[in-house]
Amino acid sequence: MKFTLVHKSARSGARAGLLETVHGAIETPVFMPVGTLGAVKALTPELTAEQGAQIILSNTYHLFLRPGADLIARAGGLHKFMHWDKPILTDSGGFQVFSLAKLCKITQDGVEFRSPFDGGVKHKFTPELVVDIQRQLGSDIMMPLDVCSPHTAAKEKVAEDLRLTLDWEKRALEHFAQNQVQAFFGIVQGGLHEDLRQESAEYLRGLDFAGYAIGGVSVGEPEADLYRVAQYTAALLPPDKPRYLMGVGLPQNLQQCVPFGIDMFDAVLPTRLARHNTFFAPDGLENILNAKSAADFAPLVETCDCYACRHFSRAYIRHLAQAKEILAIILMTIHNIRYLVNLTRDLRRKILNDEI
Ligand SMILES: [Zn+2]
Repeated sequence: MKFTLVHKSARSGARAGLLETVHGAIETPVFMPVGTLGAVKALTPELTAEQGAQIILSNTYHLFLRPGADLIARAGGLHKFMHWDKPILTDSGGFQVFSLAKLCKITQDGVEFRSPFDGGVKHKFTPELVVDIQRQLGSDIMMPLDVCSPHTAAKEKVAEDLRLTLDWEKRALEHFAQNQVQAFFGIVQGGLHEDLRQESAEYLRGLDFAGYAIGGVSVGEPEADLYRVAQYTAALLPPDKPRYLMGVGLPQNLQQCVPFGIDMFDAVLPTRLARHNTFFAPDGLENILNAKSAADFAPLVETCDCYACRHFSRAYIRHLAQAKEILAIILMTIHNIRYLVNLTRDLRRKILNDEI
């Protein structure tokens, strides 16, 4: 993987970059739709690509449990298995182990947990195993196992989790054999504490990761804290490597964080909101079931060029949603992803012109 910093804005920390992988080049800033289980919910891979998605994110924890990394490897890797030939980033599963799994027990060596799916079978993730799983999946960008502290945790606990995370990341990088196909990112943790974020960033800068993620945000903390941590941490990261703000991807988040120098974003929200009848609009989120759309023959967003906005009215999509037609979800998912793709393209154009 190769990252080229194409332009840094003269007005802010905003950057336009180019991330080249064997499955294609990615223009940054970029929003990555999430296909947790190997599918962007409600869309075929062609529909996802048609919206301008350059890379998707998939989830190691979920794919490890169902259908299993061995099966995906036998199918020829995740790209082939899910019929997606553009880049894929896989997360480490750390966040899901700590938020979804039952009875999770952390040791110096790794984390033991019981699966919520297969009758409570015990599993253990180690930093090394998580690298091996992602190698089987064949993703373009891999993430290391980390400990995700709740945002309400005491500072001593966040510091303890951070030191274990840094040890795991070092072990994971050592286990990861550099190869032409996959890239490995480090994750900066440290909760809402600037000194811990600094300790984390400094340590990881000393290790040769291909890019750096800011983790442990978008976990329920106030938005002001998210922005403070993103801005503070981005400034600590090496300028010649891509920066990825994990789990953040509402339109206002992108507008706010791109000027901090963040290059990559992902969130389940655009697809999840669509399944809850909610779509992005210039003034914020709107719900299609709102009565004001009942006889409104305008599109979801007048200025949007997506398939849904070019061909369908709010009144029609509202009718579909009320009738629980699956097409309502498909159309709003198309719109929400296209909306973020258009937003990042517009931000990139503004960066290249030094407008933001
Ligand atoms: Zn649209």
